[in-house]
Amino acid sequence: MTRQIASVIGGKNEPTGSPYTSTNPARPSEAVAAVPLADAATFARACRDAAEAQKEWSRVPAPVRGRVIASVGRLVEANTEALARLVTEEIGKPYAEALGEVREIVDTCDFFLGEGRRLYGQTVPSEMPDKNLFTFRVPVGVAAVITAGNFPVAVPSWYLVPALLCGNAVVWKPAEYAAASAHALYRLFAAAGLPDGVLNIVFADGAATYEGLELALSEGTVQKVGFTGSTAVGRSVGELCGRHLQSPCLELGGKNPMVVMPDAELDLAVEGALFSGFGTAGQRCTSLGTVIVHRDVHDAFVRAYVQAVQAAKIGDPNGDVLYGPLLDRKFAERYEEYLTWIEPHHTVLPGPTGRMEGEGLYYHPVIVDGVRPDDRLFLEETFGPIVGVTTFDTIDEAIALANRPGYGLSSSIYTTDPKAAFRFREGVSAGMVSVNNSTSGAEAHLPFGGNGKSGNGSRQSGVWVLDQFTRWQAMNWDYSGRLQKAQMDVADITPDLAFRL
Ligand code: NAD
Repeated sequence: MTRQIASVIGGKNEPTGSPYTSTNPARPSEAVAAVPLADAATFARACRDAAEAQKEWSRVPAPVRGRVIASVGRLVEANTEALARLVTEEIGKPYAEALGEVREIVDTCDFFLGEGRRLYGQTVPSEMPDKNLFTFRVPVGVAAVITAGNFPVAVPSWYLVPALLCGNAVVWKPAEYAAASAHALYRLFAAAGLPDGVLNIVFADGAATYEGLELALSEGTVQKVGFTGSTAVGRSVGELCGRHLQSPCLELGGKNPMVVMPDAELDLAVEGALFSGFGTAGQRCTSLGTVIVHRDVHDAFVRAYVQAVQAAKIGDPNGDVLYGPLLDRKFAERYEEYLTWIEPHHTVLPGPTGRMEGEGLYYHPVIVDGVRPDDRLFLEETFGPIVGVTTFDTIDEAIALANRPGYGLSSSIYTTDPKAAFRFREGVSAGMVSVNNSTSGAEAHLPFGGNGKSGNGSRQSGVWVLDQFTRWQAMNWDYSGRLQKAQMDVADITPDLAFRL
């Protein structure tokens, strides 16, 4: 039976809006949830409600807010299987990976529940006597969080958990095609006892979201925008925020390189390239884009890679498979467009490309050997089960190729030479570097984020994300009973600078 879900603003359901149905990509004729999509005015209203609720929430002591985050973690943990099954049903992510995705929420909660007892400020020495200086972390206010659906619950939690812990209210706009998974996560947060209006979920399409955000920013009800999605949309969200003097947290696409050095353990590199190139059907922001393999080991690597891909199981995401269907029809259509970027000078392996027989949105895995630095396939993100291969001769050349597309999210190098690993780390433009590990896989307490076309340098996870959801406030307190002027009323101790031994 199709679930009926709706936006929730200030604790109340919003039953009106234009109808949308999220479907099961393994059986696209099967509806997962029906949801009315809100208009721009509704989004802006949610931000106003959130601004009202935030005042009280920010006064709840941070350790108590930490206890709420602890409860979210326990609730998510207790509902792991149900949430993971829903993710598999709605976006076709293999169940084992969906379980991992849910675990990441629990890990994030575990990290931040303790942060509620830290959120440290500093005491800082003053240049004058009888004066104390302090810093405080202050919540920003309302965070509008807009997310993609390829990680429909884990990536949103990277925003929601720290934002709420820091004393902000949130208006969350998830991806339409992952509406049921998002709604389930919302309910788990609500069950942890968040007051009405502190977390709001608004389902809307891209155009209404943009317009609603513009309204909210003009009304001054949003102080932070978190956006995870494509580079193109991130650019326009960034422009909009810039006009309102805000620096959003932008987490965008990637064209993630994997360098295979001549001294690499090839089996390990192939295993990494299989998982990061084709896991989640290549639809992770950290998916492998291009293997940059040393000319001397190119043939051996490609042979083993093709064999591994041919041996991999693709199919029902409830089973033990490398990958299931693409996320949604929109992604299948886009992926078919990427396949048209294959050119005559490319060698396509193992053979068939395009959609597999049957109802589900299953696509053949494609390795494109012989991509060149000016090819579209080399330069742009191709969200789906397609990986390019190119060759290099020197490490400097490999680094230049890794940086050439201008993204900068994740990267990887396989080598047994520490010098090569450190040279690569230093030269690569990516926010994340793996050595002898694939481009995918984030731990909940390491900074996550990219540069260039992958983002504006913001970082999520761990202590680093606190700077997205708090602002530093400096306080000075003079108890001397006089007006002591900085720089002017400072004691001077005269040195003898002419002194020599
Ligand atoms: P998208 O940019 O089309 O959509 C992302 C979200 O933005 C959705 O909720 C969508 O409804 C909304 N949106 C669309 N147009 C909008 C507009 N004009 N104004 C405001 N909101 C708008 O992205 P997608 O295709 O759904 O997701 C895949 C992309 O996300 C890939 O590029 C992937 O690499 C990236 N991604 C990045 C990360 C990361 O952490 N860096 C994580 C996951 C996905």
